[in-house]
Amino acid sequence: MKAIYPGSFDPITYGHIDIIRRAAMMYDELVVVVLINDAKHPLFTVEERVEMLKETVGSIANVQVKASSGLTVDFARKEEAKVIIRGIRAVMDYEYELQQSTINMMLADEIETVFLLARPEYSFLSSSAAKTVASYHGDLTYFVPSNIAKRLEDKLSK
Ligand code: ADP
Repeated sequence: MKAIYPGSFDPITYGHIDIIRRAAMMYDELVVVVLINDAKHPLFTVEERVEMLKETVGSIANVQVKASSGLTVDFARKEEAKVIIRGIRAVMDYEYELQQSTINMMLADEIETVFLLARPEYSFLSSSAAKTVASYHGDLTYFVPSNIAKRLEDKLSK
């Protein structure tokens, strides 16, 4: 079975990497997709985010990385994927994810959203926390791999 894991990945963190590894074990194929949403004012361009994902998880045999604009369910249909993977950290994620997945259910009832719980060691981790720490030149060891830390530092020093 094929699944997609959509997100902003601005940038990818250890929390995302963990979800990708776990989902890749559950499904035959996993497409990680950077969904283009300019309303979020991302720090990195779509191309940079795709590149960072490829550098980090591109070596997992059944994982592909893509970018897409438009609705998540339209991308899932185009890919012929029946599952959307999302990660849940705390109650604050639940409300947002419940709303999104209910909308997706109304748009495409043949597609299921599957939630994976964040591991406790990553439950505090978010792309925005990594960006905040990086903007004050803090230690990113527990947030992102070193190649991503370097990209964050380069970007924020400009
Ligand atoms: P979006 O803008 O779509 O929320 P994100 O890149 O912030 O995109 O997150 C993509 C998905 O990964 C979301 O389902 C989010 O809840 C999940 N996620 C983010 N950080 C973590 C983490 N530390 N552990 C587990 N899941 C996470």
